[in-house]
Amino acid sequence: MTTLLEVKDLEKHFPITRGAIIPHKVGAVKAVDGISFKVEQGKTLGLVGESGCGKSTTGRTILKLTEPTGGHIYFDGQEITHLKGEKLRRLRQDMQLIFQDPFASLNPRMTVEQIIAEPLKVFGMHKEERQKRINYLLEVVGLSSYHKERYPHEFSGGQRQRVGIARALALEPKLIICDEPVSALDVSIQAQVVNLMEDLQKAFGLTYVFIAHDLGVVHHISDQVAVMYLGEIVELGSYDELYAHPKHPYTQALLSAIPEANPHRKKERIVLKGDVPSPATPPTGCKFHTRCPFAEQRCRLEKPTMKVVSLTGQEAACHFVEEVSDVVG
Ligand code: SF4
Ligand code: MG
Repeated sequence: MTTLLEVKDLEKHFPITRGAIIPHKVGAVKAVDGISFKVEQGKTLGLVGESGCGKSTTGRTILKLTEPTGGHIYFDGQEITHLKGEKLRRLRQDMQLIFQDPFASLNPRMTVEQIIAEPLKVFGMHKEERQKRINYLLEVVGLSSYHKERYPHEFSGGQRQRVGIARALALEPKLIICDEPVSALDVSIQAQVVNLMEDLQKAFGLTYVFIAHDLGVVHHISDQVAVMYLGEIVELGSYDELYAHPKHPYTQALLSAIPEANPHRKKERIVLKGDVPSPATPPTGCKFHTRCPFAEQRCRLEKPTMKVVSLTGQEAACHFVEEVSDVVG
C-alpha cells in the first residue's frame, strides 16, 4: 500500500494578542497541537471529535489554506509543508475540499454550470471540453445536464451537496478533505450522500479525510479513525478495532453515545461531565482529565503520549490504558 498523505507532529497555533496600539502576543490557541497520522491511497481516514477540537483546522492546514505553525505534511511523495506559489497552485489540483454547508459554499448567483466550470477555467480547459466534462460530472454525482442552468436555491440540501462533490471532482483530485459533508443534511439523505462518496472513491481511487463530530457517521466509510480532543489525537486505529475495543476513555464515551452501537457490548451510556475546556486555556497534563471518569493525580501533572496498544497497531494516549480498557473493552 502507498501512503498518499502523511502528517507528522502537525501544529497550528493562533496567537492571542492584546493592545490596540502596540499589539503583543499574550498566548496562543493551540487548535492543532502536534498530531500525526497517515492515509493510504484509496482509503478513508475518519477524523472525529466534538466541535472546536481542531478537525477543520487540521483539514485546512493540510490543504495549505492556512500555514502550519510546526510539523510536516507529506503528500504524494513530497513534503508540502512550506510549498508556495506555482508549485502550490499545481498541488491544489490534487487536493480538494467538500464543505459542511453546501448552501454557504456555493455562490447563489452562479448556475450549477458556472460553479463547476470555475475550477476548469482556472486550469485553462477549453469551452467544448469543459461542457463535456460538466455533463459527465453531473451524471457521475447522480444529477443530469438538465440541472446545469439551475441555481443552488432550486436544489434540495442533498442535491446541493452533489453539486459540491461534482465541483470537487472537476480536476480529478487524488485527495478530498470532506469537512462534515453530511452534518447539515437530514438523516435519510446522509446515507445517500455517503454511499455516493463511497462509490466515487472506488470508481476514481480517491483518498478521503472524512471529518465528522460523531463516530456513527464515519462508520461505513472509514478504514482508519483518528479521535481528536482539544487539538490532539487521543486514539487512532482501524474502525473495526476501535469500535470493538475502544481504548481511550474519550473514544469509549463517544461510542457509547451512538444509539445502535455494538449490540454485543453492554450499552451503558458514558456521560462526560462538563463541557470541552477552552483551547486557549487547556487543562494541564492529560487535556481530558477534567472530564475523564478514570482521572488520577498523575493525569493532572503528566501528559500521556500515543502508545501502540494492540498487535494491529491501534494507538491511544492514556496513562492507564490497560486498566481502562479492562473496565470497558
Ligand atoms: Fe483519563 Fe488519565 Fe487516561 Fe487522561 S491519562 S484519559 S485523564 S485516565
Ligand atoms: Mg468544523
